Amino acid sequence: MVTYYFEKYGLALGKEKESKFNLFADYLLSENLKYNLTAVRDFDGVIVRHFVDSAVILNYVDFPAGACILDIGSGAGFPAVPLAIMREDLNFTCLDSSAKKINFIKNAVSLLGLNNLDYICGRAEDFSRRAVGDTHLAPSVPTITSVNTLKEGGFDFAVSRAVSRLNILCELAAPVLKLGGIFCAYKSKAADAELRECGLAFKLLGLELVNNIKLELEGEERAFILVKKVRETPGNTRVISRRLVRARCDFSTAFYYSS
Ligand code: SAM
Repeated sequence: MVTYYFEKYGLALGKEKESKFNLFADYLLSENLKYNLTAVRDFDGVIVRHFVDSAVILNYVDFPAGACILDIGSGAGFPAVPLAIMREDLNFTCLDSSAKKINFIKNAVSLLGLNNLDYICGRAEDFSRRAVGDTHLAPSVPTITSVNTLKEGGFDFAVSRAVSRLNILCELAAPVLKLGGIFCAYKSKAADAELRECGLAFKLLGLELVNNIKLELEGEERAFILVKKVRETPGNTRVISRRLVRARCDFSTAFYYSS
């Protein structure tokens, strides 16, 4: 079943990857009974709506080997875990404010034997503010030095699915990207409307639209909006607006699927 759906969307799986996806689906579904990690509760749904939906970006975006990729608001590991299974040559960091979800990812990483995925529990706005040198953060706010990525000038890519509106995501992603780095937002049919809200955010944050890719997954509209960091993010963290303080998970996974 896993191979059927992946191949339907042009993604080749060997035996090893297939068995990792089967293992991950079983683990997600069993832990979901205890911890309510996802609204998707059937095996086929997990394969299509989580795994293929996460991985299909590989048909459209060329991630060079060795790239460091931050998944903002990764929840139970989407899109980072399927991408890490598909591409062992890329380095992923999952960031989520929910300790329950990060703990799930930690156990999944060990179960699947993934050597290319790190995880951090914290709020994305705290990381973004630290990345632009905000010194007013409480010492308890963790850093991303576990992967040394910020020290080296930031991530090559950031990805995010079903977390927030695009303009808010841009404010979170820009500071943690290196110059020339790309933010890939997984969106559904609201993509164009969200893009229209981003003019000021792009200007203030030094971002530029690279591509707005449209596709269909099992009859539902999907979009990958690719945004490039073309200038350094201003150190003045007032750019990271008050909206961020209030920003919460305002786009549920259910919204992402049904919209
Ligand atoms: N990306 C996953 C997916 O597509 O299945 C999870 C989507 S879930 C609807 C949104 C996730 O974003 C939740 O796990 C939540 O804890 C996380 N989140 C929301 N606001 C956040 C923030 N400010 N910083 C870090 N994580 C956040």
